[in-house]
Amino acid sequence: MKIDLHNHSYYSDGVLSPAEVVDLAKNQGCDVFALTDHDTTDGLVEAQQQADEINLQLIHGVEVSAMWNNMTIHIVGLNVDIENKTLQAGLKQHQEFRQIRAEKIARGLGGVGIFNALEKVKLVAKTPMITRTHFAQMLVQEGVCKDMRSVFKRFLTGKKPGGVGGKWAEFDEVISWIHAAGGKAVLAHPLRYRMTNTKIKRLLSHLSGAGLDGVEVVTGSSSSDEITLVSQWAKEFDLSASIGSDYHGWPNQRVQIGHLQDMPNVNKTIWSDWSWLN
Ligand code: AMP
Ligand code: MN
Ligand code: MN
Ligand code: MN
Repeated sequence: MKIDLHNHSYYSDGVLSPAEVVDLAKNQGCDVFALTDHDTTDGLVEAQQQADEINLQLIHGVEVSAMWNNMTIHIVGLNVDIENKTLQAGLKQHQEFRQIRAEKIARGLGGVGIFNALEKVKLVAKTPMITRTHFAQMLVQEGVCKDMRSVFKRFLTGKKPGGVGGKWAEFDEVISWIHAAGGKAVLAHPLRYRMTNTKIKRLLSHLSGAGLDGVEVVTGSSSSDEITLVSQWAKEFDLSASIGSDYHGWPNQRVQIGHLQDMPNVNKTIWSDWSWLN
């Protein structure tokens, strides 16, 4: 069975519409697929319509930004009730922070001579959700940087002109929103944070203590060694293993929907409790 539980549409920073992402997943042979946009579930209505149309098993997901130890991490909620008030109130806070942050980023860029960044970035985004990826796309279009990676490096991180610290909810609160909505909370791409392995293990230990259900063992950019390492951590911290490509659809991204290495032998997968699947 082909499963991909981490993907984006243009409701956050992906390129394709929810219906297009669902079509692509089906064409790539996915049997089970989750749409997990950043801090919003708004794309799932369209995604579900298309999934019903073409008979694809769609998991309702969301990738929630969170703070741990003053650092931003991403927690994926899977199989959430998108009507849940606690979850939606939390996501609304994050959506509001994104508006304020976008204004701050634009002001920072104005300080180094990049004017009208907010107006320009709104033209790039297809929904009101503004992510840093949209700023990166805009600055590449404007010819300021050659690719998105260099925009992040030069402008959008740390003390750089458009660097604005995250003010997301704390990890334990985010986990509780996901649980309130009946979902499973999974730490996304554990090896993509700028942390030593010792620190990632501390992160996993804290999150596991706060009720985290799983961790992404296989991602679109994992090497075999990384998969082995994270599967050992999953065992050590009693976490279920998840799998997801983190597909965004950027032309220069090598990540493709449903193109994932096999899940190694693990104690438990995140979908083992989804009785309708097994
Ligand atoms: P945001 O949630 O608005 O802070 O944006 C974070 C998103 O930016 C991530 O989900 C990635 O898709 C993207 N991103 C972060 N760092 C980089 C990078 N160095 N190069 C390209 N994209 C990045
Ligand atoms: Mn993203
Ligand atoms: Mn992420
Ligand atoms: Mn993602």
